[in-house]
Amino acid sequence: MRIDSDAFDTSESSLRLPQPRLSEASFHGADGTKITGLTDERLCQSIGTRVLFTFRSGGVSSAPYGSLNLSYTVGDADADVRENQRRLLSAFGAGEVDGLVQPNQVHGNEVLVVDDVAETQRLARAGADGIVCTKAGVPVLLCFADCTPVILVAPDGSFAVLHAGWRGAIADIAGIGLRKLAEQASCSPADCNCYIGPHIGGCCYEVSRELLDRFLDEYGPDCDAGSRRLDLSAAVSASLVRAGADAARIADSRLCTQCNTVLLYSYRAEGGVTGRHGAFAYREVD
Ligand SMILES: [Zn+2]
Repeated sequence: MRIDSDAFDTSESSLRLPQPRLSEASFHGADGTKITGLTDERLCQSIGTRVLFTFRSGGVSSAPYGSLNLSYTVGDADADVRENQRRLLSAFGAGEVDGLVQPNQVHGNEVLVVDDVAETQRLARAGADGIVCTKAGVPVLLCFADCTPVILVAPDGSFAVLHAGWRGAIADIAGIGLRKLAEQASCSPADCNCYIGPHIGGCCYEVSRELLDRFLDEYGPDCDAGSRRLDLSAAVSASLVRAGADAARIADSRLCTQCNTVLLYSYRAEGGVTGRHGAFAYREVD
């Protein structure tokens, strides 16, 4: 009898991540607090890397930041933001707020690689829009209210968290982040899982004709959502595929922030004064 050797190639199959899939879940801290968002539970069970796009419930901030605002730069009380971040980390046993890597986002395409945590925190404060992390035990958070959050995960559990507003998207931050992650994790970009979180959708994101044309030139006709509206998901996906991503490994939440201000923050829908939800990733310590 002839045996198909491929079926027994466990070294190959063990490197393969489960297909990415985002679904809603809630997580409870030891003190009874509750964090809700979109996650990939199978991924976490398989390699111990938690990805989460947070919703706005479960925090202590008051209106217009209510309630789980994770950003210090929007006018909310610092003590409330700190408590919100503490709740987020506590729900995953991800350590203290002072250990969090959270860049000052500047709409660029600079992606930092975490080596020494304190040094990365210092560089991140000076401005960056992406963090690649190969280490266990280092929580990473970026903040959003309409811009596109992207989380990438390599088969060894390393990850990247990226901020792609239109400026970052046109500057290829998603592709840059994927290449950098694959290089750091010594894998193919095609083996990485890609997650696109909630952002202002093609249903709502009206832009100038010039800006839409720039996206069409750069990323093709799928970016055109009609009536001068831009589909940032299509742009980010094209940027990822161009960098070598497998299109079948891109999971898109398909949640529009402007259409869902009960669940999420929207800068446009809320007149520019609101909080920020998070894209969070954390690799558990073995
Ligand atoms: Zn919408």
